[in-house]
Amino acid sequence: MRRNPNHALVKFLAASLFVSGAVSGAFLSSCGQSPSSVQSTPAANSSTVSPSPAANTENRLRVVATFLPIYLFSKAVAGDAAQVDILLKPGTEVHDYQSTPADVKALSETDVVVKNGLGMEGFLDSTLQSAQSPKLKVIDASKGIKPVGELSQVVQTGKEEHSHNHAEGNPHVWLDPVLAKEQVENIRDGLIAADPDNKAKYEANAAVYLQQLAELNKEFEQRLGQFRDRTFITFHDAFPYLAQRYNLKQVAVVEIPEDQLSPTDVKETIDAVKQFQAKALFSESGVDNKLLDGLSKDLNVKLRSLDSLEAGETDPKHYFTAMRANLQTLEEAFK
Ligand SMILES: [Zn+2]
Repeated sequence: MRRNPNHALVKFLAASLFVSGAVSGAFLSSCGQSPSSVQSTPAANSSTVSPSPAANTENRLRVVATFLPIYLFSKAVAGDAAQVDILLKPGTEVHDYQSTPADVKALSETDVVVKNGLGMEGFLDSTLQSAQSPKLKVIDASKGIKPVGELSQVVQTGKEEHSHNHAEGNPHVWLDPVLAKEQVENIRDGLIAADPDNKAKYEANAAVYLQQLAELNKEFEQRLGQFRDRTFITFHDAFPYLAQRYNLKQVAVVEIPEDQLSPTDVKETIDAVKQFQAKALFSESGVDNKLLDGLSKDLNVKLRSLDSLEAGETDPKHYFTAMRANLQTLEEAFK
């Protein structure tokens, strides 16, 4: 992944939807959302809001998770035993995020930071340095997970180049329920190391969530088993682990330019989808755009949305809701 393909797509959607007045900033939810639009809300980056005044007076472990899926997993394992906050509000562009003084403050006041790792949080190392908190522990949720690089061809329709390096491989491991289990185990072990007094609670909470992840994996296996080697194209390179796990084929990632689709861009996109003979074309959740619908009509492939979980609700159960919606979408696309 040299760049974040969806960055361009959502910028484009943001522009067109904004003009039509059909959508608010909050509606745009993906890693493609520009940080500046998020920062327009004063509270957007002032993270780590304490759930209640009482939480500060307790001596609970303070945990900050970097972004949504990692927050969901951390919250599930911590339960009430630790205070867990989220650094980047759901929907904030994580891939290209630049940290703020509020982030530095949040990290300087916490005991533990949980990150996805694999280069997802490019802003984190310098932010941690600025926070200068020698006792702060960092849990790498992807510890021991072998990343994949580019599995499929990246087709660029736009002329614009911006460097977007994922030298450490593709970071979207949370979208594979089996690797999500490994992340939950890493978080559990990290919290136990930081707070051994609550070992039993972390183990019990993690066990429940791990069981639910195992059931989710079984559902994916059972329902996608008949669709082996089905091909798809996406605008956001978020699903290589999911594809690999369930024997689907992400044949290409198509990048759409930032500002406006030109007729040439549309043609190039159509050509790419035809060339790869993709069975399905996936954009992001919450995106409903007539221009792209038209594009998918030309291709005789229905455009559907897959959720990368970089935006959404903050209840740990949300992972399962969103992933089951993804499963439903995949089933409908491939049958
Ligand atoms: Zn992403």
